[in-house]
Amino acid sequence: MRDIKCQLLVIGAGPGGYVCAIRAGQLGVDTVIVEAEKPGGTCLNVGCIPSKALIHAADEFDKASAFAAGDTPLGIHVGEARIDYPKTVEWKDGIVRRLTNGVSGLLKKAGVKHVDGWARFRDGKTVHVDTPTGPQTIEADQIVIATGSTPVELPGLAFGGAVLSSTGALALTEIPQRLAVVGAGYIGLELGTAFAKLGSQVCVLEAMDRILPAYDEELTKPVKKRLEALGVRVLTGVKAERHSASAGTLAYTSDGGQSGTVPADAVLVTIGRAPATTGWGLEELDLTMDGRFIAVDDQCRTSMRGVHAIGDVTGEPMLAHRAMAQGEMVAEIVAGKRRAWDRHCVPAVCFTDPEIVTAGLSPQEAATAGLDVRSASFPLQANGRAMTIERDDGFVRIVARADNHLVVGVQAVGAQISELASYFAHAIEMGARLEDVAQTVHAHPTLGEAFQEAALRTLGHALHI
Ligand code: FAD
Repeated sequence: MRDIKCQLLVIGAGPGGYVCAIRAGQLGVDTVIVEAEKPGGTCLNVGCIPSKALIHAADEFDKASAFAAGDTPLGIHVGEARIDYPKTVEWKDGIVRRLTNGVSGLLKKAGVKHVDGWARFRDGKTVHVDTPTGPQTIEADQIVIATGSTPVELPGLAFGGAVLSSTGALALTEIPQRLAVVGAGYIGLELGTAFAKLGSQVCVLEAMDRILPAYDEELTKPVKKRLEALGVRVLTGVKAERHSASAGTLAYTSDGGQSGTVPADAVLVTIGRAPATTGWGLEELDLTMDGRFIAVDDQCRTSMRGVHAIGDVTGEPMLAHRAMAQGEMVAEIVAGKRRAWDRHCVPAVCFTDPEIVTAGLSPQEAATAGLDVRSASFPLQANGRAMTIERDDGFVRIVARADNHLVVGVQAVGAQISELASYFAHAIEMGARLEDVAQTVHAHPTLGEAFQEAALRTLGHALHI
């Protein structure tokens, strides 16, 4: 096979890599992208999209079950709720197919050459790819490493059989009767909640002393309450150890040294994700690392000239939209534009029930950063829209500088609140002050009014509380 020479080579077609390649192609950069699996990466194939599809199906089934049980104040009655799970999986997979095919189409439209196979560095300018039709060498002026991340295993609970990673859980074709979820971070709780709504008996085991330890506790309280209402058992301060397939149990030890077991036909291990830094020849390069991640500067340049890195492989927050924003920026830099990472915030959403959104600084983070801030929350109990969707559990909190009222952070918890994440980030990015949020005419009745009211409350004159 003839060697390929190009201006830009992107390794990995996840949200970071494919966005980078599309933008570079649009700008006329001669671009090649290499991907070992299907385009779309973790996010489209085994992450954001299939998990949200599963969560939606679970929510609908939960609703139908409540109607069937007559457990609703709406006066709606239906017959028995049943689920044809293979059909649900087929629907989820159809969405994934549509999106990944769409990415292939977009790459083609942008004039990007797609090479199918596993890339391995020979040196900082040359990569070797094992393609289905033979070995291929690619030489590039500039290379972007967008290899993403992979799920972390627990000693004693290696993936395989009944011990599942998030990828394995999303590939199940049957709903497990008894599911143990190890790790109460966002991925474990999103999937654990979905399976609980689909009928699994779910037990969550967390080594720290509370669920979602990365979030401030006030935000996680409504989630904890809802897990209780769904019958999900949560054990904190425990370490999962071994799974016995024959007994159908997962053994654990608690911080106090006691041991016990929980029922588990399947075990979902979601204790975190690690940057994908092995198997592609990192050792052939001279890259400065930042712990386990590849160190990058504000233009996503690594310590080697002509080698950039973006997305999960470069650190936290490991989120698709951060990877995409980095990818777009790097493409423009390669095309000769002046760009640098100057974003004020990367919003994060936890698609639990209720959902959690964070953008910018929490009151504690602002204090740690030495800022003098004002902060107030507005409860969804006082928001008309929240009542009409039967979900008034949660609140919106705003954090602003005390001197000039610049909004530096927004946190919220509530059903469907994820749709406000970009609105919160926009306010922070545009340098909004409390008065800007308070004086914007908000459509009624919407959840967004809770943001306006939180701003008004921070200014000392909320109207609806
Ligand atoms: P990835 O998406 O991991 O893509 C890397 C790609 O590189 C892969 O396709 C891989 O096959 C390929 N690759 C690696 N090495 C090579 C090589 N040597 N040669 C060829 N190809 C290679 N994020 C959100 O923002 N919102 C969410 O709701 C969300 N939900 C998630 C739910 C789950 C269950 C999981 C697991 C993750 C979720 N994430 C979510 C995280 C999100 O998926 C990642 O942050 C995002 O995919 C990172 O993008 P990336 O481009 O850095 O890497």
